[in-house]
Amino acid sequence: MARRRRKRIKHVKKVLKPSRYFQCPRCGAMTLTIDFRKLDSADEKLAEAKCGTCGLHCYLKVPAVLDRVDVYNKIVDLVYEDRLSECEALPEGVAAPAGEGAEGESEEE
Ligand SMILES: [Zn+2]
Repeated sequence: MARRRRKRIKHVKKVLKPSRYFQCPRCGAMTLTIDFRKLDSADEKLAEAKCGTCGLHCYLKVPAVLDRVDVYNKIVDLVYEDRLSECEALPEGVAAPAGEGAEGESEEE
């Protein structure tokens, strides 16, 4: 008697997509987004953090290896140290975004 072998391959596609949203250190809402923009320099990139609730908006020039979470931690520090105003403007040498209000653009998948 042959053993019946049932071939059952379950395709469990678990896509663990980390949330794009962080908790805003200023207002506490989960509406803080962090996007990266390329800079001329290969070692640095520009992080842009925005909160859709309180309007927090800041730019940070960071090493290219940094992750969103790293940037988030930096922003949390800035807020707690009340130094957020230091990064509200684009860093020197960084061109202003061409189209303001272009939401949801991210190079990350
Ligand atoms: Zn906020």
